[in-house]
Amino acid sequence: MKENLLLLIKLQECDSQLVELSAKKKTLPENIEKLDKEFSSFKEGIEKNKIKYDELKSRHTESENKIKKLNESIVKTKERLLEVKNNKEYQAMLKEIDIAESSRGDIETEIISILEELDKFSVLVKKDEEILKQRKTEYEQEKKMIENDLNTIDADVVNWEKNRLDLRKNVSDDLLARYEKIKKRNRGVGVISVWKSVCNGCHMNIPPQLYNELQRSNELLSCPNCNRIMYFQDMEKPF
Ligand SMILES: [Zn+2]
Repeated sequence: MKENLLLLIKLQECDSQLVELSAKKKTLPENIEKLDKEFSSFKEGIEKNKIKYDELKSRHTESENKIKKLNESIVKTKERLLEVKNNKEYQAMLKEIDIAESSRGDIETEIISILEELDKFSVLVKKDEEILKQRKTEYEQEKKMIENDLNTIDADVVNWEKNRLDLRKNVSDDLLARYEKIKKRNRGVGVISVWKSVCNGCHMNIPPQLYNELQRSNELLSCPNCNRIMYFQDMEKPF
C-alpha cells in the first residue's frame, strides 16, 4: 500500500482512539454513579423486611417487659392481700389482681402473634441477606472493572498522543492539512476503508471505474460522496 496512505490510516486510528478515550473519561464516572445509585436503591428496597423484623423484635421485648411488671405487681398485691383487714379493701385488691391478669392474658396473645410474624420475617430477612450479598458482589465487581478501565485512560491517552505526534512528523504538511480538513467535516473520520464498492464511512457505492482505480492507483482518492480519503480493504483478509 502507498506509504503516505498507511501513515494516514495509522494517524486516523490514533485520532479515533483519542476521541474514544476522552468520551470514556466522561462516561465511565457517570456509569459508576449510576451503578452506585442502582445498588443503594436496591439495598433500600430489600431492607424493608429487616426494618419490619427489627420493629417486631422491639415490640416483643416491650411486651415481655410489660408482662414482667404485671407479674411483679400481681405478686405484690397478693402479698398485701394477706395483711388486709376489711372486706371492701380485700375485694378491691382481688379486682386489681383480676384486671392485671386479664391484661397479662391480652399481652400474651399479642406476643404469640408477634412471634409468628417474627418467624415469617426471619425467613424473609435471611433470603434478602443472601440476595443482597450476591448483588453486592456483582456490584463491586462491576464497579472495580469500570474503575480499572478509568485508571488506565490517562496512560492510554499519553501513549496514543505520542504515537500521533510521531506519525504526524512523517506526513507532509499538505496531506496533513487535507486530512484534518476532511476529518473535521466528517465527524472525526478523514480516512476510510472501501470494500465491495461501498464506502464504510457514508455507505454509498463507489462508481466501478473509481473502485478499480482505488485498487491500482498511487493517487490518494476521495469518496465522491463524503470526500473522505479512501483505501481499499479486503474484509475477507486480515488487514
Ligand atoms: Zn464516503
